[in-house]
Amino acid sequence: MPAGLATGPDALEPDLLRAVSFDAGWSLLERFSTLVRESGSEEEHVAAEYIGAELSRLGVPFEMHEPDLYLSLPRESSVEWRGGSIRAKPPSFAVPTPDGGLEGELVYVPAAAATGQRDLFAKRLGDDLPDVAGKIVLSEGYAMPGMVSAFEAAGAAGQIFINPGRNIHWGICTSIWGTPTTRNLATKPGTPAVAVNNPDGERLKEAVGETVRLEVRLEEGWYPCKLPVAHIAGASDEFMLVHGHYDSWDVGIGDNAVGDATLLELARIFHAEAGRLKRSLRIAWWPAHSTGRYGGSTWYADTHALELRKRCVGAINIDSPGCWHATEYDDVMWMAEAGPLCARAIADVTGKTAKRLRPLRAGDYSFNQIGLTSFYMLLSNIPADERAALGFYPTGGCGGNIAWHTEDDHMGVAERANLERDLGVYVASIARVLNARILPYDFRETVSELAGYVDDYVAAAGELLDLSAVRTELETLGTALDDLYAAVGAGEPNPAVVAAVNELFLDLSRILVPIGYAEGGAFDHDPALPRTPIPRLARVTELSGLADGNSEMLPFLVNELRREANHVANGFHEAARAVGRVLAQLMASAPAG
Ligand SMILES: [Zn+2]
Repeated sequence: MPAGLATGPDALEPDLLRAVSFDAGWSLLERFSTLVRESGSEEEHVAAEYIGAELSRLGVPFEMHEPDLYLSLPRESSVEWRGGSIRAKPPSFAVPTPDGGLEGELVYVPAAAATGQRDLFAKRLGDDLPDVAGKIVLSEGYAMPGMVSAFEAAGAAGQIFINPGRNIHWGICTSIWGTPTTRNLATKPGTPAVAVNNPDGERLKEAVGETVRLEVRLEEGWYPCKLPVAHIAGASDEFMLVHGHYDSWDVGIGDNAVGDATLLELARIFHAEAGRLKRSLRIAWWPAHSTGRYGGSTWYADTHALELRKRCVGAINIDSPGCWHATEYDDVMWMAEAGPLCARAIADVTGKTAKRLRPLRAGDYSFNQIGLTSFYMLLSNIPADERAALGFYPTGGCGGNIAWHTEDDHMGVAERANLERDLGVYVASIARVLNARILPYDFRETVSELAGYVDDYVAAAGELLDLSAVRTELETLGTALDDLYAAVGAGEPNPAVVAAVNELFLDLSRILVPIGYAEGGAFDHDPALPRTPIPRLARVTELSGLADGNSEMLPFLVNELRREANHVANGFHEAARAVGRVLAQLMASAPAG
């Protein structure tokens, strides 16, 4: 990156890093290890008040929001067969069975095992489902929305998921992101579903073809929640949002008390140096992540949408850092423009090389459609060979520990040295955004990533759909950005130009993040289902199949995708125009030479 766009440390950073320690954080872990932080519960409110009391003790200003959020709370459930009973956990937003339970014939549908975090949320079924209508399906994996909705669509009356290990993992099966609206309420799951552990599930396979009975219990409704947000004022009211969930399954130490403790330490460290910060910092602890499908972060996105859109310079999600034996950075999420920043911060603080995972439609990434450049989610992992040696299967947190989303996620899952090291990564990353003269984002990375996807879509469209405008507008944007970064890097831009470039970078985030990650509108929330990059163009890959089958749907889909392509091409066009305007200003202000 050119000199004018440094991603490295400034004078403040060493002082911030010297303040890294985990005393207040460790006390929080010990307190939270006694609190079952189910959203809307008394113990979760106690946890929020603990965070508030700690912020008060540290002198950090904060707000305690109190939204009512729509939750689904799993209760003790079972599968009964041949007179015996197996313990089961329903995923949040499964439907309770009526009095007397749900009886049905058990049908087994094998599913491919997840190979890692990246396909944990995907539907892993073949195309030819057996007849499951009116039956109770037995399959493998976690009760994730893709699988649950696929079986429901095939007419299954109930579902049982065989988890991969000896513990049953809690989870959530609705695809509705945050609290439902009248428009998406109908897509809420409509049938009972449960998870069982692997030994029980394997035995249950003997009952295939027999009648089994599900007893599924959940409580669903509106619950009062608490949502603390710390405000650390820097010189400008532009701010960075750093956030993580504090509700959990059971006492959830690795997922996510360690993140809550990290957020508290960040509040302490940055508040102490607030007078030296160029930009402001907001630190948020979300409720309703586990039982409201990111209901807390979504509520904040909805109620603070305009100020986030106008003034938020980037977002960091903190989930499951610093866990036991987690020393590798082999699956770290960041949006492309934040790549140089993230990779360098991790390398500078830890000496490790981070490997990127393109952000999934998961976690509290509730700000994609507002257009916030976002990075991190899970951070460090147990090394892959160690996980394999331990017989660990893929999970969605706890540094890869299979204690994730179970009763085993207790103090042993946290590791203090790893927490301090990861805290350092966050401190460096945040400081480099807050105090950068020019925001440390490289949108040439974003364009080059998007160009790869556009090439794929152009190839998939073949002669069936003309995507040349998408490609041309993106190329124009790429050229404009090359010129801009070269010009900014060549000299010492004056304050007016610096301000214009920073404003431009916010505009580019607002345009390019939604194009890269979302299908719906700016203030809406796409469902919690896997998104293909540039989701508006995802269905381009269906065209050739429709053409081969002489489907009468082909011209309708072509028609639809032409409109989506216009949306995408126009986004690139507007981004290029914005870059051009700032480039002109930059050239006009440059000393004649
Ligand atoms: Zn989590």
